[in-house]
Amino acid sequence: MAVPVSQMWTVASYVLKQKILRRKRYATVLMLEPLLRCNLACAGCGKIQYPAHILKKEMEVADALKAVEECGAPIISIPGGEPLMYSKIGELVKELVKRKKYIYLCTNALLLKQRLEEGVFKPSKYLTFNVHMDGDREAHDFAVCREGTYDKAEEAIKLAVERGFRVCTNTTLFSHVDTERTRKFFSRMMELGVEGLTMSPGYSYQKAPDQQNFLSREKTFTLFRDLLKDPEPEWQFNQSPLFMEFLMGKVHLECTPWGNPCYTLFGWQKPCYLLQEGYTDTWEELINDTQWENYGRASGNSKCQNCMVHCGYEPTAVHQTFNSLKGFARTVAATLGGIDSRKGKNITPPAVGHRIETGAEAKAGEDISGKLHRAVDYRGDVTVKLRDGTSLEGFVFNIEGESVDFFPSKGAEVQVLSSGDVQDVDFTGRNFADGASWEAWTKKYNEQKARREAGEAVGAIGIFSEEAQ
Ligand code: SF4
Ligand code: SF4
Repeated sequence: MAVPVSQMWTVASYVLKQKILRRKRYATVLMLEPLLRCNLACAGCGKIQYPAHILKKEMEVADALKAVEECGAPIISIPGGEPLMYSKIGELVKELVKRKKYIYLCTNALLLKQRLEEGVFKPSKYLTFNVHMDGDREAHDFAVCREGTYDKAEEAIKLAVERGFRVCTNTTLFSHVDTERTRKFFSRMMELGVEGLTMSPGYSYQKAPDQQNFLSREKTFTLFRDLLKDPEPEWQFNQSPLFMEFLMGKVHLECTPWGNPCYTLFGWQKPCYLLQEGYTDTWEELINDTQWENYGRASGNSKCQNCMVHCGYEPTAVHQTFNSLKGFARTVAATLGGIDSRKGKNITPPAVGHRIETGAEAKAGEDISGKLHRAVDYRGDVTVKLRDGTSLEGFVFNIEGESVDFFPSKGAEVQVLSSGDVQDVDFTGRNFADGASWEAWTKKYNEQKARREAGEAVGAIGIFSEEAQ
């Protein structure tokens, strides 16, 4: 495994400390989202569909550090949006390094070369650039819906490695992936000098415009067994061996939704990085007020049935490694013997016969409460009509009891409304979740490629986000 010993030791001693303190629920990785803006507009992305006034917002560094202190996780992952577009990224990273937090800065690398040349970062064992690379040139450019992206990312990886930074790659695998090409791509990344590879199956965010390209549990097993059969000796993985065995269907794990919590512009996201079923102001409220029994595959929650993503299952793998002899022995065996899908028996996960629904779908209806819950789920602005005759336009993101949290479309501060004062809700703004689907993107890509092959001058094929720099 590629993870340095000092980092492994930090995580191991942290997990053991939680055990001594008898903490049932703790975080190993904080997913810190300082902004939701991105310079790409991938069709499969469920993170960026917001109105412009939300995409312009940035988290204060002090708020980010408060969240870091509150939850105490030893590893901080900074996704987004695109964190290199965050104006205070240098300051945030410096503060986290000062606090000896291991940082995974998850970037599409379009701005990495520029930020390195600007001297925004200094190499440190605490800082890793985790570069989003979904395959070789053609596969990656297609996956992120923009030609030219792979070349820029590869150039930036080379520069970062040359300058002594820790670099990993992060590959999301969708149902259309070609495993042979992905294997060659892994070898190419190792050749560039990256420390390790990370992978995750694409998960169908409710808000992702693309739904048919995501993987079911069975397809995930097949894909990872193909990919990790007789792996090349040079491949190094920067994720836990138990999680990889889980992806190959060699071991059954249940989700730990609180293990990689997400702190975003709206607060602490309930219950996990993928589902958005409300927000709390503090970590303690998130831990104490979430009905955790309603999440994870075994709960019967229909949204969890095909989910196998790292943010739910890596923390389970880490917990089992340091809290059970069996988990520890399996991890040691996989670390020493290497990951290979030809080893070990394939398992069938236990059946889950019941289903439950949570979130807006469970509460939506035509009364005011139902409309407000639908507004929380809506990725656009709404118009809230109050009983005093006034109207407010903005983005509703949370309901807690009688309180409705609302970002006005023309104003920086959150407003808290009382649901009792609301007379009606109109869905007046564009719903940004109705973004580009894979189907639409594939059609555009194939058409433009055919025109190019016929000799027509066609520029870079892609989807260009409204907020691209
Ligand atoms: S790079 Fe793509 S997947 Fe990542 S945040 Fe941007 S649009 Fe979403
Ligand atoms: S199974 Fe997936 S969607 Fe469900 S709580 Fe866990 S991480 Fe979230």
